[in-house]
Amino acid sequence: MTQQTEQFKKVISHAKEYGFVFPSSEIYDGLSAVYDYAQNGAALKNNIREFWWKAMVQLNENIVGIDAAIFMHPTTWKASGHVDAFNDPLIDNKTSKKRYRADVLVEEYVAKIEGKIEKEIEKAAKRFGEAFDEAEFRATNPRVKANQEKADAILKRLGKSLEKEDLADLKALIEELEISCPESGSREWTDVKQFNLMFGTKLGASAETAMDLYLRPETAQGIFVNFLNVQKTGRMKLPFGIAQTGKAFRNEIVARQFIFRMREFEQMEMQFFIAPGTQKEWYEQWKEKRMKWHLALGMGADKYRFHDHEKLAHYADAAADIEFRFPFGFKELEGIHSRTDFDLGSHEKYTGKKLQYFDPERNENYVPYVVETSIGLDRMFLAVFSNSLTEEALEGGASRTVLKFPYALAPNKAAVLPLVKKDGLPELAKTIVEELKWHFQTVYDEKDAVGRRYRRQDALGTPFCITVDHQTLEDQTVTVRERDSMKQERIAIKALKEKLLDQVSMTSLLKKI
Ligand code: ATP
Repeated sequence: MTQQTEQFKKVISHAKEYGFVFPSSEIYDGLSAVYDYAQNGAALKNNIREFWWKAMVQLNENIVGIDAAIFMHPTTWKASGHVDAFNDPLIDNKTSKKRYRADVLVEEYVAKIEGKIEKEIEKAAKRFGEAFDEAEFRATNPRVKANQEKADAILKRLGKSLEKEDLADLKALIEELEISCPESGSREWTDVKQFNLMFGTKLGASAETAMDLYLRPETAQGIFVNFLNVQKTGRMKLPFGIAQTGKAFRNEIVARQFIFRMREFEQMEMQFFIAPGTQKEWYEQWKEKRMKWHLALGMGADKYRFHDHEKLAHYADAAADIEFRFPFGFKELEGIHSRTDFDLGSHEKYTGKKLQYFDPERNENYVPYVVETSIGLDRMFLAVFSNSLTEEALEGGASRTVLKFPYALAPNKAAVLPLVKKDGLPELAKTIVEELKWHFQTVYDEKDAVGRRYRRQDALGTPFCITVDHQTLEDQTVTVRERDSMKQERIAIKALKEKLLDQVSMTSLLKKI
């Protein structure tokens, strides 16, 4: 097993063991690519959502938030292009009867080549120690260079055939690379076909009158159809943004990699309405702003990179992804898209209603242009969770597992622990919980020896443990232990709130943006 897959397995099992993420309906053996957030997971997810919402809506005077319905009039999806163009190329293996995404089969082949490169680099890094220069090694090692060139050439050809929707070439590429079915090992493939990713459902009680609906595949359209309502009722002037978080549904052909690619997931999207001709400037600004939001979490600038799209979606004139270094490599976390006037213009055509803005400075009506930022909440959860999960060696040969969450995102900010279950310590500890719980999520824990309780809180990512001991009875001070450094200091109970709130509050995180 490679280091990457081993780390990823740890992420999945830790998420389950410590009550973050469970497979959906697990007692019925689960449902493929659908997950439930458990007690700690729901808290972490809420905190990430709050960080996004406040950064967008609370800190920007010209951005408002809405909450549109999941069901929308079906013509919405005709206008948006999803009925005709929201497809993935699929291919079946004739022997195993298993279905795959043709482009993903090729990408996985490339990932194997990149895995070989990583291994070479790992080996060389060990051999050369401190003196190792990765860039130099990549540029000069013949094996690494040859593999990189091969990977690049395959990706380039894949990009071209996807762009031209050349399904025959996609199949030819799979055959040329001699890609076999991971299940059966067979190379007997069907032709590549397009497959629409939207889930259909029906509205209405009788079969004759029922209306065909779709579960929304993105939240953005709920914003576009409300553009004029919000602009008028909010007396909004361009440029302004509408933000929304909510569920989206995609019948993904290959839904693996835990919560990275799910069939039911949550998006956090913001559509920024601007004057035509200003889109380049706003696109660059939003790229920069969104990267700052990510960097504020302190997970390390080396974990992120931009990837500019060569193949643009039907609605975009520029697009980039913010990629994150997941345990399985750099992958898309967020998209920033310059969507032109495609969506509003198309809704105008389909509804026959004007979706325009009167610009008093230009003294004219026009359909606004749009720059969108779109991030998957579940992917962000996976980014934070996988990056925070750390295995640390301790003095004396022991080790500990710590979730080093950014403080403000941690499910619980503090745990109050009475040293022993007697002498009035539990009662005193509970009064501290009573006081702190008004300001941030605080838990009480009295089970097991205090050392084991520290380990448990480390594994849950709780930033501070507050221990109440016999000295507390005498001088009203407690021991505060910080999660990452394990440093302990004695603090007066009455100073606790101020001292901790300053570090764990959402405000403190927002100020870092
Ligand atoms: P991908 O290329 O990974 O399929 P996409 O380009 O189709 O993603 P967008 O349509 O731009 O994704 O959606 C915006 C964001 O929504 C993505 O950056 C991602 O974070 C999230 N997202 C998209 N599909 C899924 C999914 N199936 N499961 C979880 N999150 C998703």
